[in-house]
Amino acid sequence: MDNCIFCKIANGEIPSAALYEDDDFKVILDLGPAAKGHSLLIPKSHAANLYELPDDLAQKAILVAKKTAAALRDGLGCDGLNLVQNNGEAAGQTVFHFHMHLIPRYKNDGAGVSWKPGKLTDEEKEEILSRVKVSL
Ligand code: 5GP
Ligand code: ZN
Repeated sequence: MDNCIFCKIANGEIPSAALYEDDDFKVILDLGPAAKGHSLLIPKSHAANLYELPDDLAQKAILVAKKTAAALRDGLGCDGLNLVQNNGEAAGQTVFHFHMHLIPRYKNDGAGVSWKPGKLTDEEKEEILSRVKVSL
């Protein structure tokens, strides 16, 4: 993708602060961190979102995320960590190259990764279970 900023960052055309890099992924510091150590896991090949990410990279992404999460915890002493991944404008995605946010959390840091809980009705539960079919 010619005009994709994360393609350019992941492939080194644009400099970034990288915590980790291998043939498939780069993990960089987010320029607008929600909390200290907020990092982005980015595949080197372009996929706009989770739907487009090849299965082998999806598998590897969670492993790299796990290792990075432990390194952030050990290095920064965070009290928790959010793994956030947005798909589509409606979900808050602003850069349309798949990425995972790793957001270290500290007690009372005020970083807002939350939602207002609704209520699951029996009707909605039945509707969802009848309409959504997951298979591997
Ligand atoms: P999204 O909203 O798409 O899930 O997240 C995009 C993230 O990319 C934001 O947290 C934003 O701060 C970060 N970001 C956007 N442009 C750049 C950039 O050029 N360099 C870095 N390191 N982060 C960026
Ligand atoms: Zn891209």
